[in-house]
Amino acid sequence: MGRMTRILAIANQKGGVAKTTTVESLGAALADLDVSVLVVDLDPQGCLTFSLGHDPDQLESSVHDVLLGDEEIADVLLDTEDKVTLLPATIDLAGAEALLLMRPGREYALKRALAEVGQDFDVIIVDCPPSLGVLTLNGLTAADEVIVPLQCETLAHRGVGQLLRTVREVQQITNPNLKMLGAVATLFDARTTHSRDVLSDVADRYDLPVLSPPIPRTVRFAEASASGTSVMRGRKNKGATAYRELAENLWKHWDAGEGVRTVDF
Ligand code: ADP
Ligand code: MG
Repeated sequence: MGRMTRILAIANQKGGVAKTTTVESLGAALADLDVSVLVVDLDPQGCLTFSLGHDPDQLESSVHDVLLGDEEIADVLLDTEDKVTLLPATIDLAGAEALLLMRPGREYALKRALAEVGQDFDVIIVDCPPSLGVLTLNGLTAADEVIVPLQCETLAHRGVGQLLRTVREVQQITNPNLKMLGAVATLFDARTTHSRDVLSDVADRYDLPVLSPPIPRTVRFAEASASGTSVMRGRKNKGATAYRELAENLWKHWDAGEGVRTVDF
């Protein structure tokens, strides 16, 4: 019997909003719940690949070759220390935009590739690059649902309208089933009201639910990325705890068909 695979895209064309951190931490937290997880690095910078213990410069093949049809996806997947499987990226991917643009069905390349291995995973999480180009369109076209990480700072809303417009266009043209699940508040500072004010403003303005819980800003994440280890594997800290709660929230939504829990303002 085939299992139901959920494909989740993490997208925001702004850099530094914790897309990659969210993909890695959610992936690790879901794997700890015994969910089988594939994470996809769609960013030519390869930050997800690197933080999962693989040096992009040392890899023979990557998602780039898969998108262009030169490699089978199953031959490119890597195991990681986080118990998740990785479809890695290398800097080659920077050229994929131009190469894909010349091909028909260019938005569907990732969707087609994931269909080959979907049966092997409960959840697939796609780390989109900081742009709204053809790679992000591939992520959104392959996905069932999309989450937008929002850094809770003044001007966090800039670009959100454009991203939501892109999601609506994808829903109209390449993926009518795509659902905007909501925002995840990242780098959240609970000690002041500022983060909460920014969030409620963005949520109101764009009618965007904010998933529970917000992810607090903690120095552990910077330490973890500097040392190439996951924050989820280190000592207990409030960032890891928040991602575990978010993973449980999402897994209940997928597994038991419950609505996803959101933050009230
Ligand atoms: P993106 O993928 O959106 O560019 P990253 O996940 O790479 O963003 O995160 C950007 C930076 O913010 C990284 O240095 C990361 O370690 C840091 N960071 C992410 N989440 C947190 C957090 N909750 N607290 C502190 N720093 C964080
Ligand atoms: Mg990133």
